[in-house]
Amino acid sequence: MADDRKLEMEDVLRKQHAVFTAARPEPIEARKSRIERAMKLLEEHGDDLCKVMSGDFGNRSPMQSMITDIAGTVNFGKYCLKHVDKWSKPERRSVQFPLGLLGAKAELRYEPKGVIGILSPWNFPVNLTFGPLMQVFAAGNRAMIKPSEFTAKTSLMMQELVAEYFTPDECAVFTGGPEVAAAFSELPFDHLVFTGSTATGRKVMEAASKHLVPVTLELGGKSPVFLGESADFAKAGERIALGKMMNAGQICLAPDYMYVPESRQDEAIHGVWQGTAKMYPSLLENDDYASLVSDRHFDRLQDMVADARSKGAEVIEVNPGNENFGTSNARKMPLTILKGVTDDMKAMQEEIFGPVLPVKTYRQIDEAIDYVNENDRPLGLYYFGEDKGEREKVLTRTISGGVTVNDVIFHVSMEDLPFGGVGASGMGSYHGVEGFREFSHARSVYTQPSIDVAKLGGFKPPYGPATRKAVKTMMK
Ligand code: NAD
Repeated sequence: MADDRKLEMEDVLRKQHAVFTAARPEPIEARKSRIERAMKLLEEHGDDLCKVMSGDFGNRSPMQSMITDIAGTVNFGKYCLKHVDKWSKPERRSVQFPLGLLGAKAELRYEPKGVIGILSPWNFPVNLTFGPLMQVFAAGNRAMIKPSEFTAKTSLMMQELVAEYFTPDECAVFTGGPEVAAAFSELPFDHLVFTGSTATGRKVMEAASKHLVPVTLELGGKSPVFLGESADFAKAGERIALGKMMNAGQICLAPDYMYVPESRQDEAIHGVWQGTAKMYPSLLENDDYASLVSDRHFDRLQDMVADARSKGAEVIEVNPGNENFGTSNARKMPLTILKGVTDDMKAMQEEIFGPVLPVKTYRQIDEAIDYVNENDRPLGLYYFGEDKGEREKVLTRTISGGVTVNDVIFHVSMEDLPFGGVGASGMGSYHGVEGFREFSHARSVYTQPSIDVAKLGGFKPPYGPATRKAVKTMMK
């Protein structure tokens, strides 16, 4: 079974390669047409996709899906359409003196790589499939996609829609579980983009190394919030609550834990409490609040809270409607704040990826900086406060994929900023011109003038005084 799937994927890859090669050089209009069709697919079937996503999650607000998965991705397509001409122009580069005067030319051409594999996760199943696809197309490539098995109906719908809007040699979707994913990651693509967990990212990179396939790894991690003394705690609490509660915390960039001044811990927690209660007066019967995607994910979080409790953490459930979660099978979980956490707790060892918020305290902000530096480099880092000196201290002494100041998550929605991780949170990035370049090959083209440059420069045997002069000039 798995072998058949592998053969089928290999066959499509071979065909995509052949058509890609035969079609070169392709006019820029072909790229634009693919981006436009991807946008049209989302515009025409956005509502259906939102419904199906809600079914896959158990419940997920179609309005939220419309913002995060449909409109946000269409908007990104618009951004790519607007910039693709400029991005794909060859760049003149300088040549060493006096070669320019002799007619030498150096240029950099951003050329398509060929066929790019996209492996996407379940948490924003449409956005994290079609987002990279827009830039894969902008750079002139073909694409093969393997979406997540956890959002199986959405994956199936994406497969059907892609088959309707694209020829199989432009773009093809393959559904299936981890075996299909593993076989997919072993294919000899020209590039592979993986969005998912750090653990799976390791396997993907290992599989890709077999054919030396370059990878972009968009992974997760524990993105910290630094709450400075100078922050507006109420406003910060509201913004942290929005970022943590959206998609029930199932966001790679969700604020994972909070670092707050020791003397103001209760005020900080109160801010998040208030912010949550204002947006979600109830949770169980509230369609705005998402379910956890599977029983396995739900159980993992319950276990994480139980583990923290048993090791001495104080557990605060933010349950403004006083609802009984114990009798519900909706896989919904209230925001659960953990006070007094220690490093031996699972909540401080694993990425949370759900509505659980550990709180750590500091006396000096340097303690929080040191803690972040002692652990894996996070995907996002958030600083709240008006103290510019402190903000710069936090930013210049830590390393993370990206940063949002005075809010959480928002840097990912800036289309012109590259988005990606560093260290354990990933490598490479997309969005911005960087995403276009990630999926392009930067090809150097040098044109030699007709004059014998090698001789003139003293590089041609027999070596003599001209050579010595050239060496001396280079070392000066
Ligand atoms: P995951 O790693 O479990 O799965 C992601 C994809 O990998 C799925 O399509 C799956 O089929 C595939 N896969 C599973 N086993 C595989 C294998 N052996 N080889 C190759 N592929 C395999 O991740 P998930 O649970 O779907 O998503 C949650 C994780 O993704 C979190 O860690 C989160 O932080 C991260 N994430 C990162 C970003 C980002 O942009 N950086 C965005 C969303 C999610």
